[in-house]
Amino acid sequence: MDFVLNKETMEFEPVKPPYKTVEIRCETKEDYNDFEKIVALSQPKKPIPADEQVIRYVTTYECPNCGKHLVDNGLLNYCYNCGQKLDWSDEMDGEK
Ligand SMILES: [Zn+2]
Repeated sequence: MDFVLNKETMEFEPVKPPYKTVEIRCETKEDYNDFEKIVALSQPKKPIPADEQVIRYVTTYECPNCGKHLVDNGLLNYCYNCGQKLDWSDEMDGEK
């Protein structure tokens, strides 16, 4: 365990971890399924380039979760249909 000097009390205190523990209570199986769904949506997934391009000059992608068409405008961090978090990291790398 690491200790840090508290300048107000001039005593050494254990360093607190930089995160909080969040308790999530799932009382029913449905609650637990909802919780798993939310966790799954918050994990970024890469959009899938669509087979057919519906808008000319704009790359169309499909949501990896619900399959809805998405247009890469650099602003869409979440699927507007199902809330899936989207990971555009590869696309961003290409622009450097
Ligand atoms: Zn979606």
